[in-house]
Amino acid sequence: MQTWTEMKELQPLAAQMLMNSFKKDRISHAYLFQGSRGTGKKEMAVLFAKSIFCSNREEAEPCQHCRECKRIDSGNHPDLHWVEPDGQSIKKEQILHLQKEFTYTGMESNRKVYIVVDADKMTTNASNRLLKFLEEPSKQTTAMLLTESGQTMLDTIRSRCQLLAFQPLNPARIEERLVQEGVSQSNAKLLASLTNNLDEALEMNEDEWFANVRKLVIQLIEVLQNKPNEGLLFINHQWMPHFKERAHMQRGLDVLMLWFQDVINDHVDRDEAVVFVTEKERLNQAAMKWSRQSAAQCLTKVLEAKRKINQNVHPNLVMEQLTLQLQR
Ligand SMILES: [Zn+2]
Repeated sequence: MQTWTEMKELQPLAAQMLMNSFKKDRISHAYLFQGSRGTGKKEMAVLFAKSIFCSNREEAEPCQHCRECKRIDSGNHPDLHWVEPDGQSIKKEQILHLQKEFTYTGMESNRKVYIVVDADKMTTNASNRLLKFLEEPSKQTTAMLLTESGQTMLDTIRSRCQLLAFQPLNPARIEERLVQEGVSQSNAKLLASLTNNLDEALEMNEDEWFANVRKLVIQLIEVLQNKPNEGLLFINHQWMPHFKERAHMQRGLDVLMLWFQDVINDHVDRDEAVVFVTEKERLNQAAMKWSRQSAAQCLTKVLEAKRKINQNVHPNLVMEQLTLQLQR
């Protein structure tokens, strides 16, 4: 359950524009919410719908308690319609169905709101159908089209919408949101350092594969630090079997980079920046083996390895070389 105060922190510009529409009592017929996954498009759409229907609204803020607010929360408000891809696309029949629903007058009011999720996935027929709908707006209808890539949508649809650009979230915000979603502080820090996509971060948090990446990186460091002779063995028997695709390998190297950044953080007493917060003991030990300078060199080496993997050098070769370069 979101409030405008929260949404303003998440997406200041988009939230302000929508809030202003209540102040000026000028709600558009159609909005295009454009931004990458996890930037809060859906939450904002739900909140906006609530503000439109709430019977006790104060300025833009809905009360969250009235019948209208509650029915939106439970997903069964009769005048709020959702259209989502049916399989790979949004089909013409879905838009026709929506239009049909709209020809009946509103159950309790004349207001109607519809939200099209992944609007860029509309088929050409569906797009043309929706365009017709947008061209003859009734006073009381508001459309919100949500998309990650508005460029692929019909210009004629885009031009009928007020565009709201959703910005990528900054790491501190992501971390905060992840903790709110029940992710542990240490995981939240790691995930927020790897992606600015909230949904992706949540998926990674649930992913056992990713949990093992973290473990493997710590094991690799232990080997490099204490049993350098076993480095290549570890790479071939433990590391490589876990990273079968190049994208996976990049992810692993990203986490490895965070580790060496943390060694530097440890050297300069920048505790607040440390990502591996639960590994303080290990970090201290690593900082004794890797000076600040050599940790910085390791970072450069990992970056080089990432570049080579992009250039299609054989991952096994890249990792073996890297291991020799990193060990102490
Ligand atoms: Zn309310």
